[in-house]
Amino acid sequence: MSNETINTSLPDLGTRTDEITIFAGPCSIETAEQFDSVAECIAKAGLGWIRGGAFKPRTTPHSFQGLGEAGLEIMRSAGKTYNLKTLTEVVDSAHCEMVHSYVDGLQIGTRNMANFSLLKNIGLVTAESHKMVLFKRGMAATISEWLAAAEYITISGNENVMMCERGLRTFETATRFTLDISAVPVIHKQSLFPVCVDVSHPAGARDLVPSLAKASVAAGCDALMIEVHPNPQAALSDGPQQLTLSQFSELIEELREIAAVFGKKIV
Ligand code: PEP
Ligand code: MN
Repeated sequence: MSNETINTSLPDLGTRTDEITIFAGPCSIETAEQFDSVAECIAKAGLGWIRGGAFKPRTTPHSFQGLGEAGLEIMRSAGKTYNLKTLTEVVDSAHCEMVHSYVDGLQIGTRNMANFSLLKNIGLVTAESHKMVLFKRGMAATISEWLAAAEYITISGNENVMMCERGLRTFETATRFTLDISAVPVIHKQSLFPVCVDVSHPAGARDLVPSLAKASVAAGCDALMIEVHPNPQAALSDGPQQLTLSQFSELIEELREIAAVFGKKIV
């Protein structure tokens, strides 16, 4: 990609500052009790954001599809109670305005990276509010395809985009996806976008999450996405990869020490 095609306006969130933002929360918003207990844990850890899916892009229609707008109500209420910003995925162009009215950040999932009409709509809907768009990499997309697609959002009016690496489909089966840690320095070299690393979806198993998170901090990420659930064994989606509340709190303490080595703080 030539430099002319890369958007060079600085986004609002995180890029090359001394902060690493944590987007933590359950895979799916399931009940108010479930979501509140995660929110309480995140707030106690001194962090600022909670994530959770209300509209879930599941591989099969027979899996839990999310609570829909009722999930967004739960999310908004927990965000207010625990003073946390909220992040959720938008899967359908028809939902953009509605989702935008509930949350502080909008996520585009790996399965929609090349859904250009959705990207344009999200750019338009967030053009005034400038709410952050967390833009995940397609699981089979090159970095240059991913950067090019990000421009559908920026030219529609919102430059507050954070790129999110979340692992690629490769021949390897030991992990759910293969995390491309090189995406962090490459995106930093080729654009001014901040980079988040989702360490839960590539891991697919909770015991791998701490290593991927520490490696991402060392690689210079601007944010991390980490799935956490009060009772992962009973989770309605992605149970095996979600950390328990105590594992999450412990990991955040370790990450704080590692981040400090690089002169950064975890927020
Ligand atoms: C998610 O973050 O909940 C999610 C579905 O992620 P991805 O789009 O990376 O699979
Ligand atoms: Mn998930």
